[in-house]
Amino acid sequence: MQTRKTESFRQYIGGDFLEGAKTFASVNPASGKAWAEMPAADEKQTAAAVCAARGAFSDWSSQTASARGRFLFRLAEIIGKRAGELAKLETRDTGKILRETEAQIGYVAEFYRYFAGLADKTAGAHLPIDKPDMEVWTRREAIGVVAAIVPWNSQLFLAAVKLGPALAAGCTIVVKASEDGAAPLLAFARLVDEAGFPPGTVNVVCGFGEDCGAPLVSHPDVARVAFTGGVATARRVVSGTAKNLAHLTTELGGKSPMIVFADADLESAANAIVAGVFAASGQSCVACSRLLAQNKIKRKLLARIKEKAEAIKIGDPEKLATEMGPLCTRRQLENAEESVARAAEKEGAKLICGGARANVGGKFAGGFYWRPTILDCPPEGVGAAREELFAPVLCAHGFESEADAVRMANGGKYNFACGVFTHSLTRAHRVARAVRAGVVWLNTYRAVSPIAPFGGFGLSGYGREGGAESVLDYTRTKTVWLRTSDEPMADPFVMR
Ligand code: NAD
Repeated sequence: MQTRKTESFRQYIGGDFLEGAKTFASVNPASGKAWAEMPAADEKQTAAAVCAARGAFSDWSSQTASARGRFLFRLAEIIGKRAGELAKLETRDTGKILRETEAQIGYVAEFYRYFAGLADKTAGAHLPIDKPDMEVWTRREAIGVVAAIVPWNSQLFLAAVKLGPALAAGCTIVVKASEDGAAPLLAFARLVDEAGFPPGTVNVVCGFGEDCGAPLVSHPDVARVAFTGGVATARRVVSGTAKNLAHLTTELGGKSPMIVFADADLESAANAIVAGVFAASGQSCVACSRLLAQNKIKRKLLARIKEKAEAIKIGDPEKLATEMGPLCTRRQLENAEESVARAAEKEGAKLICGGARANVGGKFAGGFYWRPTILDCPPEGVGAAREELFAPVLCAHGFESEADAVRMANGGKYNFACGVFTHSLTRAHRVARAVRAGVVWLNTYRAVSPIAPFGGFGLSGYGREGGAESVLDYTRTKTVWLRTSDEPMADPFVMR
């Protein structure tokens, strides 16, 4: 019997495409079947990638900033042309629907263009120092070798907000793809090669936390770690960097509230909620998975969201007509299933819709499909409304006053984003000021741009990605003092 050939991927280390120390099978979440063979780096191979980045650092950091910008522009152009290919791979490997991966990866090129433009605009300063005969200035120097760790969702976007500023600043980098859904990042390495970056400037490895992630973040030659992932892993990364004292930014999970006031445009709010919690099958760090609706309109709003949720076309993520694909892993599916069942059966939540696996049938019968779910939660809350599920599950709560809404929004331990829908300009300002969240979206949701910083408060992490300041985060300041007097310095031990 003829078996279908499995695709295989390689890592990119020091300008060479290399097999992993081991390999493992990657599963297509739409079918539940293995479709590709992925490389897994061990500690030795991870160290080789750091060594390659270390070796390339002196050359890359001493190129002119404009030259570095040109490499990034070239990469942006190549990504723009090849976005379709990368999108198909991401869809195949993570289950994210093609219409989302195509749009997101097309936009990733804009991130590289933005950081390319910033390369020669990142500068130190001349200081108006309080001493005569002194000139003092600061230099922003590339921090060194960067370790970038990304999760499986939106890998190319999450890699771009690390690679772009790091390369613009003059750093070299090792990016670790996740053990789930690594295909698009490993394929992206081919585009880096095509863009002609000097070997070792960008290295892409793939592997598991223990064998690859942990040795990477604690490696003595790594000066900066940019981590995106879950809170439990972030804690391990923080401990790992205690060894090398690398600078660290963490972009973590969320349980972001969406507050809808009675005066809001409910249709617009319903659309934002559906996009905010059901897009990417809810697997987004900024998913607005906690709805706070003013009691007066709560029932009407939930009815409208339910209608929209039930109309979502679930199916083959590779078809452009599909509106929702599977979850990325079986683990995610089982977690959503358990948590929703507990909320509805034991914790007093009312199931408004969903709450079950979606049976897509045919070759997708083994896929990790879950129906868009809405839980109307009791005031005391349920586990599903406190923990990040990373699934299309909306937990709804009612509130009476603005003060209640702010208190409830600030009650969670994650503080990534917050959405607010209201027609009152003054209230929009008050709430934006009062909520604890790294990003506040007023009468919109989930908008991103390379120009706007992005990151959370509390257990959603620290540090910001995107925006002009993010390039500074990959530099360190050197202060230079110059004495301009021709007179010799006075001997401090000779009394005058
Ligand atoms: P995860 O924390 O399990 O894994 C993230 C990455 O860390 C993977 O590449 C993994 O191999 C690596 N890793 C594991 N152990 C490690 C260790 N000891 N040292 C170094 N690296 C290690 O997360 P996941 O399940 O892949 O992704 C989902 C999580 O990512 C969610 O919590 C989600 O909210 C979060 N996320 C955050 C953002 C953001 O911008 N804030 C964006 C996307 C996803």
